[in-house]
Amino acid sequence: MDAEIITSGTELLLGEIVDTNSTHIARALRAIGVNLYYKTSVGDNVERMAAVLRQGLARSELIITTGGLGPTVDDVTREAVAQATGRELVLYPECLAQIEALFNRWGRTVGENNRRQAYLPAGSTPIPNPVGTAPGFILETEQGTIIALPGVPREMERLMQDAVLPYLRQRLGDAQVVIKAKVLRTVALGESWIDERIDLLMRSANPTVGLAAHTGMVDVRITARAPSEAVADQMIAGMEAQVRARIGDDGIFGTGTETLEEVTARLLAQAGVRLALVESATGGEVARRLRSPVTLGRSPVTLGRSTPAGAAVVTAGHVVDGPEALSALLNISPAKLAAFGWISPMVAAEAAAALCNTYEGGWGMAVLGDVEVHGDVYGAETGQTCVALATPDATVVRHYPFGGDGVIARTWVTLRALDLLRRQALAQPTK
Ligand code: ATP
Repeated sequence: MDAEIITSGTELLLGEIVDTNSTHIARALRAIGVNLYYKTSVGDNVERMAAVLRQGLARSELIITTGGLGPTVDDVTREAVAQATGRELVLYPECLAQIEALFNRWGRTVGENNRRQAYLPAGSTPIPNPVGTAPGFILETEQGTIIALPGVPREMERLMQDAVLPYLRQRLGDAQVVIKAKVLRTVALGESWIDERIDLLMRSANPTVGLAAHTGMVDVRITARAPSEAVADQMIAGMEAQVRARIGDDGIFGTGTETLEEVTARLLAQAGVRLALVESATGGEVARRLRSPVTLGRSPVTLGRSTPAGAAVVTAGHVVDGPEALSALLNISPAKLAAFGWISPMVAAEAAAALCNTYEGGWGMAVLGDVEVHGDVYGAETGQTCVALATPDATVVRHYPFGGDGVIARTWVTLRALDLLRRQALAQPTK
């Protein structure tokens, strides 16, 4: 079944309210396998509402509207549906009785404007509204079905649950399907890099494979339509194996709503790692994401809540604002800083190695980026960052052509530092 949603209300077009109704309806339709192809918002105007309804009837089997069922003249949905389908508005005594009962309870009499709410396009099936005055209705016509729901989210959700979903399930019968999705989370791979590797898979019709990019991360969403949950799971598993084979298992740090910091802290804890950190441009963000207190100079500052995994892993988190502070903290010779520059693979490696000895058998990480660059990664001046991770066995150093205090640069660097820790932790035996 192909559907579309029409939300009515001038305040939606003015940007005064956010259209949360269509998100709710879209999810509900997806869950029962109804395809949603269009979503339109229209103001409180009968002619324009009727026009989008006609357009909808010409291309979709099902239209769900929200809003415009209230008692006032700018509540145009009933009239617009009547116009679009060439029907009269007729009084539905059972709707009037419900409205009267509600008003009686409130000790009021029903005025002319509230009586309007009991007039529905001829041939409609009313949907009683137990949580408001506006009844919804279902109108089946030869061109398609229109389901009109109130705009107030609480009322719309109640009518969806009580009446619309049971109605649609019954109509779908055997055509009802389960739609399941799984998200694979990647970091530091780049959307176009992933796209090149899985573009063939992204052409699959079922399961579908889609990408969603966030700063420094890309999610791969696999969605399957199937007659049962077990079949959907099988289809997702098959596609997941192909995605993993193409982009590399280790590039996928987690699934669903897992975060990189959670996964990294967990892996480090499992490997029994004790980590000491020094950061410059990231301002303690790596330590904070691992949920550990950081030390500015020598005084500890608690940023964020400690979790058992993060707190047990990070033994020290320092923030430095330049080469002098770094030299004072870790005893790195000023001559070396002058010779190589404080943001250099050499100095980062030495800082990480010095921190490595903070705790017997521990790890040290230095995230050293330009603190004086204030632009972001797309500006003329993009800065530099060196990240070094020292373990008792080896030191790994990465040099990035971006840095500074811009939000994107800080996020990119933080994610890369966490990912370096994660990859290194993955390679450790579990303790
Ligand atoms: P009622 O008669 O119960 O007021 P109605 O069908 O006339 O309902 P509207 O007057 O269009 O609905 O909207 C009522 C309120 O519901 C709006 O002021 C707004 O707060 C909320 N609302 C309407 N449409 C949406 C939407 N698409 N998403 C979120 N909220 C909405």
